[in-house]
Amino acid sequence: MCFVVNVCKRFAKEQPKTFVAITHPYCVSLLLVGTVFFFLAEMFYVVPFIFDTGGGMYKLAWLVAIFIVSNILGNELVCYLTDTSVASLPEERRTPKPEEEHLWSYCDECKMKVPPRAWHCKLCKCCALRRDHHCIFTATCIGHNNYRYFFWLQFYLALGSVLFLVSYLLAVAVNKEFRNRYVLVWIIKNVWKRDYDIHVANWNEFLWQNWLLMLNTYAFTFSLLMLPYQLPIFYLNTTFYTGSDCRYNLGLRRNIKLLLGQRGLWTFISPWINSPLPHDGTRWEEAKPLGNINS
Ligand SMILES: [Zn+2]
Ligand SMILES: [Zn+2]
Repeated sequence: MCFVVNVCKRFAKEQPKTFVAITHPYCVSLLLVGTVFFFLAEMFYVVPFIFDTGGGMYKLAWLVAIFIVSNILGNELVCYLTDTSVASLPEERRTPKPEEEHLWSYCDECKMKVPPRAWHCKLCKCCALRRDHHCIFTATCIGHNNYRYFFWLQFYLALGSVLFLVSYLLAVAVNKEFRNRYVLVWIIKNVWKRDYDIHVANWNEFLWQNWLLMLNTYAFTFSLLMLPYQLPIFYLNTTFYTGSDCRYNLGLRRNIKLLLGQRGLWTFISPWINSPLPHDGTRWEEAKPLGNINS
């Protein structure tokens, strides 16, 4: 999602207010409407072609779909509601202790000192703790306090679109009616074999079914493209904009706790699982230089 901000970077820089007024409502609505649309299309159109709607497998499919959608919507909501700005710190932590003072920097926009790894967002008009990037699909900055929700939101968007594609292809494989309306089969039968078994009466269903696949291909590609951006963040404890900077890399296990909280990867279960972060986002332990690693 963040590459969209890169594409629109100039517009966001020059006219932040207009950028926010246009992109936030549009992108958040697109994500929410898209999620509900694919959920309904999956459960009421695609899956009934695979499983008997009265059987156990259909009920299981409902449980899986509800789990994924509730994680998408829940993480989106909590990500938006979780304040990751420097202003979210308790008052006494908004100023550095004497021994930390040299690590803090001054923000000309906020007119205050901010902790290491915090930097200013022109769209939010504040400094965010361990700022990663500004996300227009959650209408907020992603940083120390809400990265966990942003990560699982992306994960479940990708998982949901992958499962939609898998169930679509499964329906093509097991159901003749569905298969005959799949565009590749239709082309092979009508153009190559000249076996015209698609009647005019089926055109609406034919168009709907293939339009659904086209939409999911966009969602699938888009959500999967985002996931590789998260790998260096976990492996190096870096951010979207600091790329391969290893300065704060404390090893995968500790990086995961710093990003997702004490319960680590178990936070996949739900955004409502309590997983306190190891610190408040003001004190960042640096990795030992390679030469001193054994000292
Ligand atoms: Zn600032
Ligand atoms: Zn922001």
